[in-house]
Amino acid sequence: MAEKKSKGQKLAEELLYKPKSIPEKDPKFLEEASKFCEGYKEFLANKTEREAVAYAIPILKKHKYTEYVPGKKYKAGEKFYMVNRDKDLIMCTKGKKPVSEGIRVSVAHLDSPRLDFKPHPLFEASEMVYFKTHYYGGIKKYQWTTVPMSIRGVVMTKDGKKVTINIGEEESDPSFLITDLLVHLARDQMQKTASKVVEGEQLNLLIGSWPYDDDKVSNKAKLAIMDILNKKYGITEGDLEAAELCAVPAFKARDLGFDRSMIAGYGQDDSSCAYAEFRAEIDTKDPEYTTMTIFADKEETGSDGVTGMASYFFRDFVEDLAQSEGCEVRHVMRNSLCLSADVGAGFDPAWPEVWESNNCAFMNYGPILAKYDGAGGKYSTNDASAELVNYVHRIFREADITWQMAELGKIDVGGGGTIASYISLNNIDTIDIGVPVLSMHAPVEVVAKADEYMLYKAIYAVYNSKLPKEI
Ligand code: MN
Ligand code: MN
Repeated sequence: MAEKKSKGQKLAEELLYKPKSIPEKDPKFLEEASKFCEGYKEFLANKTEREAVAYAIPILKKHKYTEYVPGKKYKAGEKFYMVNRDKDLIMCTKGKKPVSEGIRVSVAHLDSPRLDFKPHPLFEASEMVYFKTHYYGGIKKYQWTTVPMSIRGVVMTKDGKKVTINIGEEESDPSFLITDLLVHLARDQMQKTASKVVEGEQLNLLIGSWPYDDDKVSNKAKLAIMDILNKKYGITEGDLEAAELCAVPAFKARDLGFDRSMIAGYGQDDSSCAYAEFRAEIDTKDPEYTTMTIFADKEETGSDGVTGMASYFFRDFVEDLAQSEGCEVRHVMRNSLCLSADVGAGFDPAWPEVWESNNCAFMNYGPILAKYDGAGGKYSTNDASAELVNYVHRIFREADITWQMAELGKIDVGGGGTIASYISLNNIDTIDIGVPVLSMHAPVEVVAKADEYMLYKAIYAVYNSKLPKEI
């Protein structure tokens, strides 16, 4: 016989906040999430912004997206996209309402921490050949040694041809590696602080060791490698000055855990959010408000440059849309809503000391909604208003979304920013949302499938809600 609830128990249920995990609410959720994440794992094979943009375009075309034509007035339900320099992608579905009543934006970034090559990367030392790298984004440098790497990117040749390189991922490809010092001779190294254990100038990618057979030349090993590169790609060492090449971990994204509830893979910051918003965009058919899904670049280095979100390319695009409907861009911006879709930190029980348990995010508790990020006294952050948070909550409740409100970690133990600050410069109400991640910025990161799928549902809910934003 069920025991009768006491007055206090009833009151506690009514008044107190008690978070519930996704599996607690719906034990079957993982099944559906796993199906969704098969496509996500495929998406993770794109390890640079260029690759992800190139991957997305044919899928968009299959779903009736056409290339955006400036000045054209689009009809409700029409879908279109715009590419910025092969590195950003804006995807839209025209809403029933004019854009002057606001658009629903979601932005995620495609770039992830990696090892870019220097302008003169090729060198020989002790008859071995290396590419010299310059790390991109925030990394713990020691994590990037003794990890199988692949090489990706483009090289421009003297005659202006663009050569795309993607090698090291397939079983039959050669692999590349940054070595670490053997433990037997590492007594001094092991005394160093973690930031000095491996330093930037030691991140040299080993790419060969067999010399060219000619005693009349020096740097024979380097020449031999350049000979291979020239035969394979038609490039010379000088062409590498006009290249964007990088080394990224060569792992394929895989299920993690006996229960296959998680995914281990490179670049989940922020491809997890990029894939979720991409699918939400494609699945949105006849929205009330125009949707705008953005793949952004350069987030990991501060969003600068023409492909970063601090660039005007986004505002210019919205301005084009506004003009084609005879309204002002500033009025569109003021009425719009933006989800800054970027990952957060998942609580890791191995380091409980960096989190404050009432305000941190847990795996399988759904996407994190972050009112603010930044560091110290909430410096350098977009701080979503109570009205905005409430508005998003109402949309989520309507669509039965599980979410968690969290900070990154404890006050003053670190911090981090997102593109939310750059978006809100445009006078758009902006809030951060993203899945919790373990081992963020490491060569392999961990995301829970249920969180990923719930994020998709959350963005889909925002795109498809008819609830007006009265803020
Ligand atoms: Mn990120
Ligand atoms: Mn990041």
